[in-house]
Amino acid sequence: MTAFTYRGGTLCADNVALSAIAEQVGTPCYVYSAKRLRENYQNFCAPLASLSPLICYAVKACPNIAVIRTLAECGAGADVTSAGELERALAAGIKPEKIIFSGVGKTRDEIAAALKANIHQINVESISELRVISEVAHSLNITAPIALRVNPDVVANTHHKIATGEMGTKFGIDSTQLPEAMSLTRSLPALDLKGFHVHIGSHLFDYENFRDAYTKLADMVRYWREQGFDLTRLDLGGGVGITYDGQTQAPFADYASVVLGTVGNLGCAIAFEPGRFLVGDAGVLIARVVHDKQGEQKRFLIIDAGMNDLVRPAMYDARHSIMPVKENTTEAKAADVVGPVCETSDMFGEDYLLSGVGSGDLVAIMQAGAYAAAMASTYNGRALVPEVLVDGGSFRIIRRRISVKEQMEWETL
Ligand SMILES: *Cc1c(COP(=O)(O)O)cnc(C)c1O
Repeated sequence: MTAFTYRGGTLCADNVALSAIAEQVGTPCYVYSAKRLRENYQNFCAPLASLSPLICYAVKACPNIAVIRTLAECGAGADVTSAGELERALAAGIKPEKIIFSGVGKTRDEIAAALKANIHQINVESISELRVISEVAHSLNITAPIALRVNPDVVANTHHKIATGEMGTKFGIDSTQLPEAMSLTRSLPALDLKGFHVHIGSHLFDYENFRDAYTKLADMVRYWREQGFDLTRLDLGGGVGITYDGQTQAPFADYASVVLGTVGNLGCAIAFEPGRFLVGDAGVLIARVVHDKQGEQKRFLIIDAGMNDLVRPAMYDARHSIMPVKENTTEAKAADVVGPVCETSDMFGEDYLLSGVGSGDLVAIMQAGAYAAAMASTYNGRALVPEVLVDGGSFRIIRRRISVKEQMEWETL
């Protein structure tokens, strides 16, 4: 069940009218459903329950501390990719022992921050990083719990900008370099190798890609155990896709059976790092139509949200579904939905059918919980878009709008 449905002719988040939020907070504005966040978390856990996994929310998908807190209250840990995200996860109340630190470019300072916070695990992406972690840990007199992120060399069926599991991408340790990395974990001081990590990409809809990666991972565990390594943990990454406009996703239970069938019997503690799955469909971006422009060849609905507020269409060729906030069943005339920013790429999509929508009306851009507000900028002299959380029949602002006047206070003449 979606969190966003019409009630009494108005699109609501749970039972709060989006029009009421728009009136109070203004547009554009992100709205998240706490109820949906919790449901998504439960839906992820349920078919994997037999593994009692550690579920580390990939904070980069939507790093608002109120969103992290909502998932933390469900029991989630965090997967962070910078010291800034680590700070956010801790501030939101996630226990350090449930935090995993991933990413190819961790600096010495970031590694030190993670070690001092006593987090669950650092995922190591290169031999260079392995040496640095060892040095930093040694100097702090701490033993670093690590997992090696391996590059399983599988082609992930997704947008090329978010495929991360192929040889030739910057991610993970290539299989040819794994023997060197494994022996370094023994010879370098202050490292405690716990296991392996894979993350082959984001928004995957073909679970066979996961089967390939996890099968290779299981083979690696068996092989390296034979060589005398005590491997007790596997981190299976994130990447499960969701349904956007016109796309379908196989049931999540199928993903769970891939997991159980490949790595379920190794006796390893299993961790996951879902991002999009937990937050993607729990958010919408509400916007108002500024102009209904009938061009010579095309009709444009120009809205007050732009690519700076939601960059996914411009960056990943994404198409989000769009719904009128006021329900209308009359026949619609197709329109391209575009933003105000001075770039042709500032376009949400072509030929939307939005009945009853014209100048002044509100629309909701759906599935805007993941990689949406997280990637918002102030490009084109625009305010930083606010965020609202709906919970238990009411809503609250969880990030206020940051005006241009305020932004200029960050600057000096
Ligand atoms: C981005 C990322 C994730 C989350 O990916 P989703 O597709 O949002 O589930 C998980 N792990 C790592 C290492 C990532 O970089």
